[in-house]
Amino acid sequence: MKKLKEIKLNDFQLNVLLNEQEKEEYKFLLQDNVYCPHCKEVCEDGIEVTENILNWLNDILVKGKCRKCGKEVNRFIELGEDKEFFDRANAFRRSIGNLKD
Ligand SMILES: [Zn+2]
Repeated sequence: MKKLKEIKLNDFQLNVLLNEQEKEEYKFLLQDNVYCPHCKEVCEDGIEVTENILNWLNDILVKGKCRKCGKEVNRFIELGEDKEFFDRANAFRRSIGNLKD
């Protein structure tokens, strides 16, 4: 597979890219399922998102800060394995000139 470029997604782009179910999954994962290596536990207060990146596998890498300690945390949202999402992500890439056929 050809390596895709990383793209930083703004809030608008993220909103367009995810379907309703994926938006729920995104919220759920960020609320209760981000491990903070500093607190050595799941961020119980959630995280403050600083960046959303569509990575080379069409997964979304969320970068943020633990609301409890303020340290950097990362969470992969593994959507790229879903063929339907993968195709939608590539269509999005084409729409912004990031991917050529
Ligand atoms: Zn923390």
